[in-house]
Amino acid sequence: MISLLPRTFALLLVFFSVLGPKSVAAADRPNVVIIYADDLGYGDLSCYGHPTIATPRLDRMAQEGQRWTDFYSAASVCTPSRAALLTGRLPIRSGMCAEEPRVLTTQSPTGLPHSEITLAEALKDVGYATMCIGKWHLGRPVDYLPRSQGFDEYFGLPYSNDMGWIRHPEKYPGLDPKADYYAGPLIRDVTVLEPATDQRLLTKRYTAEALDFIRRHKDRPFFLYLAHTMPHVPLFRSEKFAGHSRRGLYGDVVEELDDGAGQILDLLRELHLDRKTLVVFSSDNGPWMIFHEKGGSAGLLCGEKGGTFEGGMREPALFWWPGTIKPGVVRGMGSTMDLFTTCIKLCGAKLPADRQIDGVDLSPALFGTGDSPRDTMFYYRGKKLYAVRHGRYKAHFFTRQAYGKKALTEYEHHPPLLFDLGADPAEKFNVAAQHPDVLAKIETIAAEHKRGVIPVENQLEKGFPPERIPKVKTIQVEH
Ligand code: MG
Repeated sequence: MISLLPRTFALLLVFFSVLGPKSVAAADRPNVVIIYADDLGYGDLSCYGHPTIATPRLDRMAQEGQRWTDFYSAASVCTPSRAALLTGRLPIRSGMCAEEPRVLTTQSPTGLPHSEITLAEALKDVGYATMCIGKWHLGRPVDYLPRSQGFDEYFGLPYSNDMGWIRHPEKYPGLDPKADYYAGPLIRDVTVLEPATDQRLLTKRYTAEALDFIRRHKDRPFFLYLAHTMPHVPLFRSEKFAGHSRRGLYGDVVEELDDGAGQILDLLRELHLDRKTLVVFSSDNGPWMIFHEKGGSAGLLCGEKGGTFEGGMREPALFWWPGTIKPGVVRGMGSTMDLFTTCIKLCGAKLPADRQIDGVDLSPALFGTGDSPRDTMFYYRGKKLYAVRHGRYKAHFFTRQAYGKKALTEYEHHPPLLFDLGADPAEKFNVAAQHPDVLAKIETIAAEHKRGVIPVENQLEKGFPPERIPKVKTIQVEH
């Protein structure tokens, strides 16, 4: 009897130290689903005012949860924007932004540095099952694919769907979306399943993979990062959505994304996971307007993908977690980088303490206990700080066209342009002369921020021929 006691004690100790606390903590941990569209503009959902694109499922998600009016991606193009979302850090800190190439190419020898800590890695550390579905664009070499960055599973295209185009008579076929012009490889984990996948089926297949992942992990915490390939040009949708929208092909594509999001929310309800799952919907950057009606809309905002006016980086953002999130419209500021910090806090994971994290915890705003703690947003073009928003005011130190020949000229403003985004979200009326104090404050914030940025090795420029980096002319503008 006496000899049994230590053994019983030891067993009890094992039970409480391993099974006990872990299972209790795990029960409180929400699942996380981030649905990330590509190049979807601020004005492209019906709940953000689009008159001819119908997104009833996302509109319902907004009604049951929160719709944010001032939510930002951390960059205006794909690669840096995704690096920021997954690391909670401005891309300048990870070396994932450049003047040229602005995103990783099919030839880039690296990707997101392994020294970065991704949201997937942080959540995996506390027992989450993790999967990335869709567009990755953080490194094509096998050791830079999602499996090397904290994701247990991967299914998708490793970069943009216009990369690797083939068999077109003359030029870039972005406006001529025939499926066999493109050779985007569809990858499962680290293996190429289809060297030139049929992009018409991508949204449908991504959704099916998402549903399957959720079903397989319904009994344990999971993190699903569903980064859709669409509506990035070239646009494709499945047969069912052909002619679905009054907005034409672009609308068809967005409406198929809406349907996919709806299927995910339906499944979470069916599995009784809706009250323990945070679902976020947003986009990586603004609409690609050089493609005219094949690109999206930034609504009332000025600018587009590739630029630092609001339309390039302000995105639709919906948060859904019935019973936990306070439904409504949130007018505070938020950023995709905040998803990193917020999810780490909510999931009981560890926030990296050895590096600068730019994300803040949005919980007060999500739960209705306070305002969003974010009051400042930095707008970079490549490695250069172009603009800063603080409170309702935004100062542009530099402006520049997003694409085309005119983009080779940048304008440096003296004094910087100042817009009151509260009164003038379209950035039409320069109020610098009326608010020298505001401008001085933003200039101080910008200077302090720049002092805090530690130079790192650039990943995008690696292997890129320096002669292909265009010379940009800076013109001084006195106001
Ligand atoms: Mg994009």
